[in-house]
Amino acid sequence: MTSRAGRADEPELPRPLSPQRLGAIRKRLLDWYDEHEQPFPWRTSGDPYAALVAAVCAQQTQMSRVLQIYERWMAAFPTIEALASAGDAEALRVWDRAGYPRRALYLHRTARIVCERHGGVLPREREALLALPGVGPFTAAIVQNFGHGIDAAAIDTNIVRVLGRVLFGDLQPARDTPQTSVRWAAERLLPDGQATRWNPALMDFGAAVCAPTPTCGQCPLTTLCAAYPRFDVGERAEAVRAQARFRGSQRELRGLAISQLRESDVPVLNTVVIARVAREAEVKQSRVTLAVNSLIEDGLIRLTDGYLQLGSGD
Ligand code: SF4
Repeated sequence: MTSRAGRADEPELPRPLSPQRLGAIRKRLLDWYDEHEQPFPWRTSGDPYAALVAAVCAQQTQMSRVLQIYERWMAAFPTIEALASAGDAEALRVWDRAGYPRRALYLHRTARIVCERHGGVLPREREALLALPGVGPFTAAIVQNFGHGIDAAAIDTNIVRVLGRVLFGDLQPARDTPQTSVRWAAERLLPDGQATRWNPALMDFGAAVCAPTPTCGQCPLTTLCAAYPRFDVGERAEAVRAQARFRGSQRELRGLAISQLRESDVPVLNTVVIARVAREAEVKQSRVTLAVNSLIEDGLIRLTDGYLQLGSGD
């Protein structure tokens, strides 16, 4: 493993992070992971492209669905070269109904850039990864970590929750723990040379045990966790915000319009797509027109002589 970058200043902690407490947190979480490891292929393949695909699939998607999307994608585009040589419409078809289809376009554009400028190998450096379409800090860390064996602290919603509770005593860290504090904690806790186990251990632990409603009774960290005394006396983690309604949303209309084009081998009249979607969603056609225009602007579909088709034509 390659050594990582310097760390931010230590924030104020409700309990000091002594070497003993730090060591115990690491040990107990890694012991927990030994028994609960999920054998996802991208975690052990050592393939930066596989790590990229998995990280992009995981954005805003439940882990139970990620494997299904990942396997479909890798069957269609097993290498970054295969993806780069496909058209973006094909990428969107393979993405199918996985949601947030911009992710398919980002993967496709990234593959083209990597093949044109980086010799077909995803960069090792964080800054170079962050310059790629759709690659944020989490995806960059996953590529560095699982793909290149570099110690990089990945931070997703599950990890924010675990770190914010264990070290800062916050019940709802997504709302209450400053991002700089989470970043400090993620880098401070990361054990040298073990990021490929540590990051998934934190992610899986946050999904299975320190979930939005935690199961402290089954947790190996109770004596080490700053939030445990609060949960133990009956305090609750309030929801950050309710999930936005999907039915009738612009997101639903965009998805329905894309579906019309994904299922057609030939271009479809713009007016026909708009009428069909408006009928299916029971909304005014003007709302569907807005959704279609936003898809065109995002490069997900294109309009030629009054006909719509999938992709930008790249
Ligand atoms: S004791 Fe409860 S709040 Fe603390 S890490 Fe365990 S499950 Fe999470």
